Amino acid sequence: MERLIYSHDFASLPKLALLQWKMIPDFVALPKTVEEVSRLVQFAYEAGLPIIPRGGGTGLVGGAVPNRGGILLDLRRMDRVESVDPERRTVRVQAGRAWKELADLVASRGMFLPVVPLGAPASTIGGWIANGGVGIGSYKYGDARDYLVEMEVVLPSGEIVHTADRTVDLAVAYANLNPAFFGSEGTIGVITSVSLQLLPKPESLTPLSYSFKDLWAARDVPGAIAGSDLEPYHAAVMDPTHLALVKAVRPDSPEPQGLVNVVFEGPRDEVTASEKEMDALVSGLGGKKLAETLARSQWEGRFDLYPARRISGGLVITQAEFPVARFPDMLRRTSRIGKKLRMQVAVNSFLVDGNSVAVEPYFLMEEQAPLGPLTLAFVKKFGDAAFALGGHPRGLGLFTAFNFRKMHRGATGIYEAVKSQLDPYRKMNPGKMTEVWTRYDLPIVNVIPPEIMGFGLDVAAAVRRLKPTSDRYVTIETGGR
Ligand SMILES: Cc1cc2nc3c(=O)[nH]c(=O)nc-3n(C[C@H](O)[C@H](O)[C@H](O)COP(=O)(O)OP(=O)(O)OC[C@H]3O[C@@H](n4cnc5c(N)ncnc54)[C@H](O)[C@@H]3O)c2cc1C
Repeated sequence: MERLIYSHDFASLPKLALLQWKMIPDFVALPKTVEEVSRLVQFAYEAGLPIIPRGGGTGLVGGAVPNRGGILLDLRRMDRVESVDPERRTVRVQAGRAWKELADLVASRGMFLPVVPLGAPASTIGGWIANGGVGIGSYKYGDARDYLVEMEVVLPSGEIVHTADRTVDLAVAYANLNPAFFGSEGTIGVITSVSLQLLPKPESLTPLSYSFKDLWAARDVPGAIAGSDLEPYHAAVMDPTHLALVKAVRPDSPEPQGLVNVVFEGPRDEVTASEKEMDALVSGLGGKKLAETLARSQWEGRFDLYPARRISGGLVITQAEFPVARFPDMLRRTSRIGKKLRMQVAVNSFLVDGNSVAVEPYFLMEEQAPLGPLTLAFVKKFGDAAFALGGHPRGLGLFTAFNFRKMHRGATGIYEAVKSQLDPYRKMNPGKMTEVWTRYDLPIVNVIPPEIMGFGLDVAAAVRRLKPTSDRYVTIETGGR
């Protein structure tokens, strides 16, 4: 039973997938020290077993799920904050600590961890770094890589290495190997602890919320913010379907509408000036400012976006980033794909930086219904739309590995060279990046070529389109607004 719990991450995967992948690990290990991790990695090599690092299991694409069994390393017991240095404003923390816990802790010491994922209560330091993620704070401050002073990593050989000199401040550091492990999805090393650069705690933080008739009416907001001199800490757009799904579970939440949440932080006078500028920008686009209490409750609930999971037997979130100028096109395409596949899809988005926006559609599904898994075709079609608009889907795992070559093009060979150098026997989280391994270690059936995997999902989409009725979990009334 305990091993079964580790056979999936946040993504809903049908039982049918067990025919293709051995997702239940043979062993689960919960190390507490880097030495234990190193010995476990060496043991896996000697025993000829795959080894899969796992943090909070909040990944969306089966990255922390075995495909051929093996040893799963649950790193959440490695959650010690080893030191906080208020003078250099750095923190040393083990990789299994959740981002929110760390952010709260440094805030209690008067400092600021500027970027965290939207899944911060459960997502771990090592997991988000291994995912190369972006999240809250990225528009103004970049991604976690920009705050990484140094990491301790256990290589596939069991060797413990440091990626840089931890006594050197980030601002003056020159050579380091942080980028090699950032976004490497646990395939070339297990991150066991990291040093992060912190910032002074901002003087004030003001969340603002604006209402639009629907999502389409708010389509120009991300582009307008990116084209202005405003520098919000976070800027998100939510659609009426999302709000209707939340309302179905929490009746006191806001009515379905196009909702724009923007947060400014910094010196008080700068925040006040930004608020005025933002008000004018939104009013020029036809939006209406909402009450301060609503804006504050939106900010406080920022980590709690998917309560609707409870309505059905599964919830699938997918993500893509693409040029901010293409946001309206992306909305149009996403809605068209949802309609064609007869699915009710909610669309949340946030600005990543001045050039790109992250769009995160999600949908409910019945994981155990015979045809429920066909909805996964949406993930493929949405990813294709992102590529077509000059962007790319985010996240590589069991069911998105077919995207690697398209996402990284020429760099695919570099990744493969690094992988075969560091992990010649392909034991560390194998068969999920450039190729998809099956559970069968036999010739011909051992690998699903990425094209076949993508083709399978295209077939699922074709079958979905034959469905006579649409799946609908909530009815949406946008009222006057
Ligand atoms: C509600 C919610 C909100 C989210 N918000 C965001 C967001 O804002 N931005 C974003 O980018 N993503 C987001 N995600 C996706 C996902 O949560 C993040 O990518 C997340 O940070 C993964 O962290 P985790 O600890 O759960 O990793 P897991 O899911 O356990 O693992 C993810 C990958 O990292 C590897 N890994 C885990 N720990 C280590 C380690 N110590 N060393 C080496 N490899 C490791 C695993 O093998 C796997 O490939 C969200 C997901 C949910 C459910």
